Amino acid sequence: MRLKKIISFQGTIQCVTGIAVRGAGGDLGIGGADSEVIKNPLTGEPYIPGSSLKGKMRSQLERKYGARRYDRRAMEFINVTDQPCGCGEKDCPICTLFGAHMNPGAKSAPTRILVRDCEMTDAFRAQVEQLPPERGSYLEVKGENIIDRQTGAAKSPRFIERVPAGASFSLNILLQIMEGDDEEKLTALVREGLALVADSYLGSSGSRGYGQVRFDYTVEEKAV
Ligand SMILES: [Zn+2]
Repeated sequence: MRLKKIISFQGTIQCVTGIAVRGAGGDLGIGGADSEVIKNPLTGEPYIPGSSLKGKMRSQLERKYGARRYDRRAMEFINVTDQPCGCGEKDCPICTLFGAHMNPGAKSAPTRILVRDCEMTDAFRAQVEQLPPERGSYLEVKGENIIDRQTGAAKSPRFIERVPAGASFSLNILLQIMEGDDEEKLTALVREGLALVADSYLGSSGSRGYGQVRFDYTVEEKAV
């Protein structure tokens, strides 16, 4: 299968509310705050891993379109809700775009989408540099009271680190169009995935209002 063209989605992710994307340790991370955001180990700057954005786009699209896997005993496809789509069928938009889950020989291969890590924008960096030194951090640490549900008493607060509202990160997604692909459909699916994430949240604690984002981007074709 030949690569026909690459469609690139370039722009920014604007944080409408504070955002908390955790590292591999998740909420169990030990450090200055009870819960730390993921940072580039070289620069100490927070970023949003491409895999986090891609995973959220995928799970939101699967909530809408469903996910399936092949059941060997029943010898048919069954719907699943506890894992990503692994059907690997050529006509499955999810498997075509994101790759078939645990299905290395999938007919839908190769994976068409590539989501790069979302780095801090220069604009956000400049904003932080203008702050007085005592506030000149990329992050805010927020104490949140935990209420003991048995007694109703407030326990000692947890300290949650997050990237403040108003921060912005780069958005850089590449979509590979192979010969025979429905280019418009795949492009629309990427746009829809981003729109669904904007209607939901990115990172953790979405139900507490974290992670509301807006995507501003342009779509361009690149010859190969
Ligand atoms: Zn599938």
